[in-house]
Amino acid sequence: MQVQRVVLSSRPGKNGAPAPENFRLEETTLAPDLRDGEALVRTLCLSVDPYMRCRMNDDTGADYLTPWQLSECVDGGGVGVVESSRCSTCAEGDVVTSFNWPWQTHAVMKGSGLQKLDPQLVDGHLSYFLGAVGITGLTALLGVREKGHVTKGANQTMVVSGAAGACGSIAGQIGRLDGCVRVVGICGSDEKCRALVEELGFSAAINYRQEDVPTRLKECCPEGVDVYFDNVGGAISDTVIAQMNNSGHVILCGQISQYNKDVPYPPPLSEKTQKTLQKKNITRERFMVLNYMNKAEAALFELSQYVKSGQIKVLETVVNGIENMGDAFCSMMKGGNIGKQIIKISE
Ligand code: NDP
Repeated sequence: MQVQRVVLSSRPGKNGAPAPENFRLEETTLAPDLRDGEALVRTLCLSVDPYMRCRMNDDTGADYLTPWQLSECVDGGGVGVVESSRCSTCAEGDVVTSFNWPWQTHAVMKGSGLQKLDPQLVDGHLSYFLGAVGITGLTALLGVREKGHVTKGANQTMVVSGAAGACGSIAGQIGRLDGCVRVVGICGSDEKCRALVEELGFSAAINYRQEDVPTRLKECCPEGVDVYFDNVGGAISDTVIAQMNNSGHVILCGQISQYNKDVPYPPPLSEKTQKTLQKKNITRERFMVLNYMNKAEAALFELSQYVKSGQIKVLETVVNGIENMGDAFCSMMKGGNIGKQIIKISE
């Protein structure tokens, strides 16, 4: 069977933005016969995520991430359907997922690496398994629950950076559902600000590319900031932390503003911000969703209920075609997405 796949053709270097030319589309042939334990899957949709920027380096800087190899097929989160199977755990027609799905139109995969999915959890909207009812939803929900200390009735204000992205858009909604009286998003366009307030129920949104963030934060958070869901780091986070209340909590989810730089993770804070944290007794603990997978099943069920009941609204930016994987990844890294960036590979 002839299939298309995406390989890594070059590395952007530790300093520098990734470019679509770092990826190359190829044709390849799949062996017709399955071995015991294997399944032939057709790819339905693929995910592009910020952590992939580390996998473009020959040293990812994280022991849980392996580098993508030059001229080899790239992989990440994916959802697909089993077309034929020689393994006991999945059968023809099953919808399955993996964190290591090859960027390939069809693939032969080990059945042991595939997780079966229940399409009813997402009312058939299978791409949600890569976003709101998948790892990004888990990151948002468990990040808030494990590190946010949100308490109903405590009159808390939450700020979310990267608020119109996959994690941020869900994190803010969880903050509201869990009892924050005010949820303010920071993001990169007026269109995103409108979506946050008009569609997702954020109290206010700030366009960091156009507006003066310190001034607007003061206006939007008149009682200061109690919980900060940090997706971006850098100057935006320094500004938010400077306006936090005593005994507040920073959920250190990601630092995307620093991912194209050769700095360790998490990147060091300025002395001023460190002092603010100390003086105000603000916690700032690193959150890693993979450390909480024992809570994933229950959390995914909760997310599914929220999405099905409409209490959580889901935004997606969908691009068609495997040939657009590299473009979609680079676009997401620069803010081209509203909500989860999805690439649809087949129907
Ligand atoms: P998003 O869907 O949020 O996409 C990335 C967004 O980052 C872009 O849309 C862009 O939006 C924003 N961005 C890019 N560059 C900058 C910059 N210099 N300054 C401010 N914002 C920027 O991706 P995800 O939801 O998948 O990931 C969000 C964060 O969560 C990342 O930091 C990621 O590493 C982290 N993460 C952490 C996990 C964990 O276990 N800790 C698990 C999964 C994700 P805009 O237009 O607003 O600039």
